[in-house]
Amino acid sequence: AKVTRLGPSPTGFIHLGNLYGAFVDERLAHQSGGIFYLRIEDTDDKRYVEGAVETIITSLDFFGIDFDEGATVDGSVGEYGPYHQSERGEIYQCYVKELIKKGQAYPCFLSEEEIAKIREKQEQEKQNPGIYGEYAACRNLSLEEIQSRIDAGQSYVIRLRSDGNQDPEKARTISVEDGIRGTLSMPENYQDVVILKATGIPTYHFAHVVDDHLMRTTHVIRGEEWISSLPIHVELFEKLGFEMPVFCHTAQLMKLDNGNKRKLSKRKDPELSLDYYRQEGYLPEAVREYLLTILNSNYEEWRQANPDTPAVDFPFQAEKMSNSGALFDLDKLNDVSKDVLVKLPASRLCQFMKTWAAEFQPEILPLFEGHEDYIEKILDLGRSGKKPRKDLVYGKQIFEFIRYFFDDYFRIEDAYPENAAQDAKTILAKYLETYDHSDDQGQWFDKIRAIAEELGYAARPKDYKKNPDQYKGHVGDVSTVIRIAVMGRSQSPDVWEIQQILGEERTKARIQARID
Ligand code: GLU
Repeated sequence: AKVTRLGPSPTGFIHLGNLYGAFVDERLAHQSGGIFYLRIEDTDDKRYVEGAVETIITSLDFFGIDFDEGATVDGSVGEYGPYHQSERGEIYQCYVKELIKKGQAYPCFLSEEEIAKIREKQEQEKQNPGIYGEYAACRNLSLEEIQSRIDAGQSYVIRLRSDGNQDPEKARTISVEDGIRGTLSMPENYQDVVILKATGIPTYHFAHVVDDHLMRTTHVIRGEEWISSLPIHVELFEKLGFEMPVFCHTAQLMKLDNGNKRKLSKRKDPELSLDYYRQEGYLPEAVREYLLTILNSNYEEWRQANPDTPAVDFPFQAEKMSNSGALFDLDKLNDVSKDVLVKLPASRLCQFMKTWAAEFQPEILPLFEGHEDYIEKILDLGRSGKKPRKDLVYGKQIFEFIRYFFDDYFRIEDAYPENAAQDAKTILAKYLETYDHSDDQGQWFDKIRAIAEELGYAARPKDYKKNPDQYKGHVGDVSTVIRIAVMGRSQSPDVWEIQQILGEERTKARIQARID
């Protein structure tokens, strides 16, 4: 069984990449009957945002990501805590002391100005590892020297004493089996990296190694931006005598922008934020289904062969993930959502719309309360037919569709067809006169055809282009007049079916209102 974890920093912004990673964690753990836990990586005070942990948990929960263990909204669950790194100070310090005792870590007294100077020089000299060694200036201070500097109140950090060879020619090559990418080969670490800051707080490198070990993590799923520091982590796992978990470095989510692949950006792409999907009213089932299509290259094939199998039964494989940048495409998400929506029971959709409205558009909530049966019929109409409607994909659109069936939200939006406008009232009066709610679809349309003929709307003559003035219009123009009176729009599902849902009284009242 696998143990995986999500280790977000509580910055208040939770994005698609977090969900993408969490999804991999969750699948790998739960598919193997294992554990998926939440660890809050809050060692950086400057980035901490009030309420961020709650945001992480509730946003992921919305998309069906549940943790078995770890931080919760008001505490934690599990035996391996604390699950907030900010509460694990003593644990880290314990391991740091051990490394110092073994001579594998040491205090470093370089001041911020000195560090800045080395950095500047290093940049000029293009990362010459020899220059890097200057960070290790305090490597060989004597115990007395160290003691006297501490006594004098000088602040210090703790650095790892790396065994790596500073000479690139002689550096060992290490290989790590990545769960997604296969063998990664890279030069060993040679940097005396900081493991404990002057404040006594550990760096990411150190904290995650200690935590992933103590929390018995078997698989670390994280973004590819960490590959470059993997050699540091390998050395830390070795020095601490911990077994290494399997690292799975996921590719960045990319999007196509004018034909070019680029990273999604917080500033340019609202769809990077998970809030976007919740506000627009995407169904969590749809987002999950879509993510699977970009997570595993063989998912769509599997889905076609197993149209009705729940997605959790898909045999997800880390090795089948893209390692060159998974392409995120909103149009594709909409297509997938449409397919998901068609299959959902109307009652689930209705209930989803209610919770969505309650959170994001409370002013429309009355529309959903107590009208469940009516709404289910409307939704079924929208979802039926050979081609499900393209504009019935997420909450905002679904509301736009439903609201025309409620008088309080109904508006006439389109104008009558120009050629039939002068006859509109006559058409509607005749329609009302002959209206019989129990007519079947055939009888109903025969009546419209009769009205059209009576008023001179007929099939288009062959010489129509030569004498457009002699052509008054077509039966379609007559039915469009009726459609607009009933639905307010020139595009809608079948008018007869709409009328069945609206009922006799409401249908007649809408037509009457256009005659008066
Ligand atoms: N706290 C790290 C981040 O938010 C987590 C990286 C990891 O999963 O190890 O980027």
